Amino acid sequence: MKNRSTTASRKSTTASPFDQLAEIAGNLWWTWQPHLASIFEMLNPRAYASSNQNPIVALRRCTAAKRRALEGDAQFVKNVRRAYGDYRRYVRSKTWYQQTHKSKSRRQVAYFCMEYALHESLPLYAGGLGVLAGDHLKAASDLGLPFVAVGVYWKKGYGRQHINSAGKQVSRHQPIKPEDTSFAEVRTESGRPWRLRLPMGADHVTIRAWQADVGRIQLYLLDADLPVNKPRDRKLTHTLYSGDRDTRIRQEILLGIGGWQLLRALKVPVGACHLNEGHAAFLSIERIAERMKDHGETYAQALRYVRNTSVFTTHTPVPAGNEEFDPELVDRYLSKYQRMLGLTGEQFHNLARVKPDDAKENFGMTPLALRTSRYANGVAKLHGQIARKMWSGMFPKKKTAAVPIGHVTNGIHLQTWLHPLMNDLLGEFLGADWSAQQDQKSSWKKANRIPDESLWTLHRQFKTELIAYCRERIERQLRRDPVREMALSGVEDILDPGALTIGFARRFATYKRATLIFSDPARLAKILNNQNKPVQLIFAGKAHPADTEGQALVAEVVRFSRTPRFRNRVVFLEDYDMNVARHMVAGVDVWLNNPQRPREASGTSGMKPALHGGLNLSILDGWWPEGFNGKNGWKIGGGQDHRDTKYDDRRDVESLYRTLEREIVPLYFKQGKEGLPIEWLARMKNALQSIPPVFNSHRQVKEYLKRYYLPAMRNSQ
Ligand SMILES: *Cc1c(COP(=O)(O)O)cnc(C)c1O
Repeated sequence: MKNRSTTASRKSTTASPFDQLAEIAGNLWWTWQPHLASIFEMLNPRAYASSNQNPIVALRRCTAAKRRALEGDAQFVKNVRRAYGDYRRYVRSKTWYQQTHKSKSRRQVAYFCMEYALHESLPLYAGGLGVLAGDHLKAASDLGLPFVAVGVYWKKGYGRQHINSAGKQVSRHQPIKPEDTSFAEVRTESGRPWRLRLPMGADHVTIRAWQADVGRIQLYLLDADLPVNKPRDRKLTHTLYSGDRDTRIRQEILLGIGGWQLLRALKVPVGACHLNEGHAAFLSIERIAERMKDHGETYAQALRYVRNTSVFTTHTPVPAGNEEFDPELVDRYLSKYQRMLGLTGEQFHNLARVKPDDAKENFGMTPLALRTSRYANGVAKLHGQIARKMWSGMFPKKKTAAVPIGHVTNGIHLQTWLHPLMNDLLGEFLGADWSAQQDQKSSWKKANRIPDESLWTLHRQFKTELIAYCRERIERQLRRDPVREMALSGVEDILDPGALTIGFARRFATYKRATLIFSDPARLAKILNNQNKPVQLIFAGKAHPADTEGQALVAEVVRFSRTPRFRNRVVFLEDYDMNVARHMVAGVDVWLNNPQRPREASGTSGMKPALHGGLNLSILDGWWPEGFNGKNGWKIGGGQDHRDTKYDDRRDVESLYRTLEREIVPLYFKQGKEGLPIEWLARMKNALQSIPPVFNSHRQVKEYLKRYYLPAMRNSQ
């Protein structure tokens, strides 16, 4: 098998800036270099914007005249040279892992996930799970872990959201064309494209794979969209989380079983497997079968080996959210494995049941993953507790506290979410290499030295940028809609740079209660329209195309944004993605999160504004009970669980309104010396010192390494 990184030609530093840019664009390292965007944009601003900031498209559509002009632009050439130097250093330098772990082993961690959010121009993700996986990969690369990842090339991307004139969400697909990516098709040693005929029940599906370089590591994306396949099989890798149960089980076979066979063909020396969510759990079954066949192990030995080398992360505290399949569907596609494992039908299904021999149970991917993974975790401390309780039925001899599910609290990849100017400010006060010490609290203490004036000026600039961004997008939205365009004069009155700005952006899953703040419209209108202390709300988020309730919530927020008393004070930005997220998290004052506790396993979105000094206002759910210290934001409610009653919603929204009216709004508008909101700024700095040093993906990946990856890799020997 050829690995592109070993065969790629090494270009000298005297290459033209365009060769250097092309090499940079060939590695997704660029997705976490905040300063590179302005360089790529210069190549062709329109192509860059219309491709959702895709540097490969911008490079291709850079005209010859533009090239000549840029080649003569000394600043441009210098900036490219510097970026290129940074890139070469990044991929070549000795890593944290090499310095701290002097292991001779070549074994790697293989990470499996259905979705990866690496950049907005690659819509291979739906939401938080993908964001977490993308950030995990980037951190694994930064730290230099021996790591490889497997996912799916969703050819038609994830639905892009438009709001139509009736205020309803319409989804359209934005295909990801191979020529617009840096993906290289995986080839065999003889140079021919690699193909696998993957058995699917009585049939076969032929798949190929693409290699994406993410800094120092490789992400392999599986693809069934080949002309040799039947149309229904080609569609398997078109769209994420769509289609019926039959499609879904085949997609999961593709990821778990196809993904493992790819790593085998590539001869990757896998020491541990990390199943990020249950979607990939068929991987374990394939690995057990392989140990029995190739190593002559008994079923019990093979199961023990696979268990000892598997890490499983669960993300779903809602029972219905845990993937399961009808037993007949599983038999249709996997009966061969039952035979290979030498099991009876009952025994095979028992692997995926909470209670063995309970014939009423479906085939659960979470029980399967838990049974075949010695290392298992939830994604926040609270979620660890919930998960232990939820799955205690699988461990009848253990007390709930002893159920073998721990937790690793999620973090974000700071460089991905950071505004370039905030990066400069942190560099100035924390030290140029602050990022290498991002998980050290002592390093962030220095944020205290940032002058109030500088932080406030920068924050106001981010907010101004956010408002300009909102107006531009809303104008575009209105241009598609001639009726409303006539009704509204212009967009310059939308949002007010002087107003306290609250952001709410996430998937519109019902448990997240996007419309909670509208429970008492009159009371909210009074808060927002206070002449001297104006407040405004920016919303964004997609509902799953099959989730009619979620879509109704989108429509409701849009409807409120169009009623006279909320006009210009409440906006809904369409097409929430990583780009919208980056703008929002830099520019808002307050980040609102009001899920039904404890349904938010972790949530990561609130960690992103904190990196810019934004303050969270959140239910004590997910990561927030660990993050909240009394001074870096606010809590809604007192940590009560939601029991699905109207009373719980009323209690929470009352707390939300009171906190806004009595604490947040007065504090924001309380001016100290020189017209600065001194107390607010103190909270911003507190957020900056207390949240990023803990809730970053470097800390997260180091925890996985120490607690799970290293022990699992040792067990593999
Ligand atoms: C951060 C982020 C998420 C995760 O948001 P949660 O509120 O934690 O679920 C989802 N989508 C996008 C685009 C994000 O940037």
